Amino acid sequence: MEQKIKTIGLLTSGGDAPGMNAAIRAVTRMAAHNDWYVIGIESGYQGLLDKKFIPLNSYNVRGIIQRGGTILLSARCPSFKTQEGLNLAVKNLKEANIDALVVIGGDGTFRGANDLAQLCDIPIVGIPATIDNDIYGTDYTIGYDTCLNTVVEAVDKIRDTASSHNRLFFVEVMGHEAGFVAINSGLACGAEIILVPEQKNQMDKVRSFLAERAKSNKSNLIFVAEGVEGGAMAIADKLKDEFPQVSIRVTVLGHIQRGGSPTSKDRIAASEFGVAAVHALMEGKSGVMVGYENGKIHYEPLKNAVKMHRQVDPDFIKTAESIGTFTPLD
Ligand code: ADP
Repeated sequence: MEQKIKTIGLLTSGGDAPGMNAAIRAVTRMAAHNDWYVIGIESGYQGLLDKKFIPLNSYNVRGIIQRGGTILLSARCPSFKTQEGLNLAVKNLKEANIDALVVIGGDGTFRGANDLAQLCDIPIVGIPATIDNDIYGTDYTIGYDTCLNTVVEAVDKIRDTASSHNRLFFVEVMGHEAGFVAINSGLACGAEIILVPEQKNQMDKVRSFLAERAKSNKSNLIFVAEGVEGGAMAIADKLKDEFPQVSIRVTVLGHIQRGGSPTSKDRIAASEFGVAAVHALMEGKSGVMVGYENGKIHYEPLKNAVKMHRQVDPDFIKTAESIGTFTPLD
């Protein structure tokens, strides 16, 4: 798509992820180097409908690379899923003279971007940012490394109390449809069993582990992705009556997994993705998501990114569990 870009719009949408600010900074500075104006759109697609526009430049994105959350704010916007919502977005983009749009977010955000791309002729580029790391077409999403480190830090503390009391802890981490957070943080924390949405019918395995454990009475960690069997609380409630001799506790880590200052890995990925997003626009690309493939920048069509989900490799699940203390290997 050959067209002269003068002004780009930039928004963050959906669930926030540490490193979004680093991406905002990189897009803004790279665009400014290219003599483009940048209009920040606050609160994601909702702000596009409500015309919440603020100018961004190299100076007002100073001092944000180390901050979690997003200075542009994020929101969920149900009306963007309607035809009226999309039409209003197209009208507002035109009125603001926005010639290209960069969206930072997860798969919902890209679904919205993909729908918008069908209706308007401005190029749209996506930057993947979600702590779940489950977007198809990229090996990495901004925020994932920070999230893993947050979980590991928290669970190391839980481990201390678990071992002091010989308790079994069920730790629930984020992940409705994919178990990347659970499997990798579980591995890093030395969990005995890791329950991920990719593997079904795992309760027999947990039961036989508990039966074995009841004899030895050692401290243990079982990681549960929130999308499994109604979550850690529901699983523990079921098992407490069956195994009264096991001292079971549950920790749901919740929203602390989203926050915090981004790790160096997330700052670097966000910066590379931001630069690559502007490069994509300079090269006339549209309807693509920036990502990594084997460590290199890669552009995936948005329509593919929203069609499929990335899931954890079954072999990696075995690897992670194979070094747990009593893991029954199947
Ligand atoms: P994430 O981007 O983190 O996956 P959401 O799933 O909440 O977060 O999506 C963010 C926003 O993207 C939604 O609030 C909505 O405005 C928009 N969106 C999500 N799905 C669609 C869809 N199918 N069509 C149009 N817009 C969508």
